[in-house]
Amino acid sequence: MRRNEEYRFCPRCGGGLERRQVKDGEPKRLVCRRCGFVFYLDPKIAACTIIEVEGRIVLLKRAIPPALGSWVIPGGFVDLGETVPGAAVRETREEASVDVAIGSLVGVYSYPDVSVVIVVYEAVITGGTPAAGDESSELELFDPSGIPWQSLAFASTRDALRDYLDRRHHGAIYS
Ligand SMILES: [Zn+2]
Repeated sequence: MRRNEEYRFCPRCGGGLERRQVKDGEPKRLVCRRCGFVFYLDPKIAACTIIEVEGRIVLLKRAIPPALGSWVIPGGFVDLGETVPGAAVRETREEASVDVAIGSLVGVYSYPDVSVVIVVYEAVITGGTPAAGDESSELELFDPSGIPWQSLAFASTRDALRDYLDRRHHGAIYS
């Protein structure tokens, strides 16, 4: 099913939505037949952190769908009114039970078939002890050589860890 078809009614007036070409060269939009409201479907933004503890990387085993039972880095959706690094700090506290200071940007990850844009930062622990919090069944520290590449939850998890380890390996980060 096309994502566009999940919404049937105008959030403003309750009229029916239809797919309509609003501007040449852009995707068709959901437009209200009654009031003309254009329902733009924008990507959501997620903010995540890669944290190292004595050379090992914090990963969480997901206790909820999607990707239940696979490994992720701490992170979650950015709320309206929140900064992206602020969301990364909050989500890391909720999921990994630690306070962190945000460092360099690891990367921004987006995929044609994924409705989320994922922003990943390096972070260092400033308080607390890593432990599984919301949405996770386990927290484990992985040596870079032992990252469970076959059991990572998302393409962004894999790509961010690769980018991070690549740069670290070449001395760009900790030289
Ligand atoms: Zn309407």
